[in-house]
Amino acid sequence: MKFKKLFNRIESIKLENVTKRYGDRFAVRDLDLEVRGGELMILIGRSGSGKTTTLRMINRLIEPDSGRVSINGTDVEDFDPVRLRRSIGYVIQNIGLLPHLKVSENIGLILKLEGWDEAKIRERVSELLNFVSLPPKSFMDRYPHQLSGGQQQRIGLARALAMDPPLLLMDEPFGALDPLLRTQLQDEFCKIKKELGKTIVFVTHDINEAFKLGDRVAIMDNASLVQVGTPEELIFEPSSELVSEIVDSKRKYRHMEALKVRDMMQPLDPGYFLEGNMPAEIALRKMVDAGLEVAFVFKESGTVGRISLNKVLKAGNTGKSLNEISKSLPVFPADASLFEALTQLKEEGESMALVLGGGKCR
Ligand code: ADP
Ligand code: MG
Repeated sequence: MKFKKLFNRIESIKLENVTKRYGDRFAVRDLDLEVRGGELMILIGRSGSGKTTTLRMINRLIEPDSGRVSINGTDVEDFDPVRLRRSIGYVIQNIGLLPHLKVSENIGLILKLEGWDEAKIRERVSELLNFVSLPPKSFMDRYPHQLSGGQQQRIGLARALAMDPPLLLMDEPFGALDPLLRTQLQDEFCKIKKELGKTIVFVTHDINEAFKLGDRVAIMDNASLVQVGTPEELIFEPSSELVSEIVDSKRKYRHMEALKVRDMMQPLDPGYFLEGNMPAEIALRKMVDAGLEVAFVFKESGTVGRISLNKVLKAGNTGKSLNEISKSLPVFPADASLFEALTQLKEEGESMALVLGGGKCR
């Protein structure tokens, strides 16, 4: 029998008043949380705060003592647990690749259980390996012990994506990696997150990772949910001392000092540029035709200026050129400190600057 996914897209995942106890200790207590379709929700908190338990109640690896977990309005208890888990990708820290199976067999395992034929499995495995930046030719036939930690982690992700599940649960997937590799995998994950277009619940205890990847962040402490919000909300409206401590606003500012101008710049279309010797009345026509509120001017002085439609309108038929009526913009190299550049802009009362040099992939 051919497997059918239980859901093709996630509208929402709801945890309502969920409690899980071990003996007389609460692992999760009265938890209410809604994950919206398409978002990446981070669960963050100290070790033992209940993150893993929360995550595993979504795919029924753990059953709550009370409360309700639902996906698209259906109680997960109403789904067959095996079908449920095959509809949800699950990635963990030590991903448990089967040591006696090749990479291709590890990734294709569920596809095989689902009755896919060999050729189709091989094709899908190649596609997945390419997706996680591992050339299929050199990786297909390796065994797990022939892989680095980072490569194993990529295989874990590929395996979780095999059935193209609309929902991914990830439990500290980069936790065991050294800091450099960790950053690299985060950057790559940042990029593929958009391509995937999936709903993701992601556990971490690293606030920088949380803010880098998360659309919203849920902070857990002592088996309870403390606050959930966007990174900005948590930084600027922390609901308690504990939240301030975890998000550590001061550290965020230090982080900003490390940012470069290129992190915020946007490329400009050549259509926005006008020659400085152009008379205002001609510039007016051009700007109106092109629908521009603002244009940039190559000035006689060698600088680049900015001119608003309003100013061009005011100059009207005075015969003045853009050289005369445009204001020169500050110029920064792409690797200038963002903090210093913003400080200078603020002092000059300017809202834009010209950046020289290339940007980076975002
Ligand atoms: P986290 O992932 O945030 O580190 P967990 O959800 O794994 O935390 O665990 C929450 C609490 O529940 C911890 O105090 C942990 O010791 C306890 N716990 C988790 N699983 C079990 C279990 N199978 N038996 C007993 N206690 C458990
Ligand atoms: Mg855990």
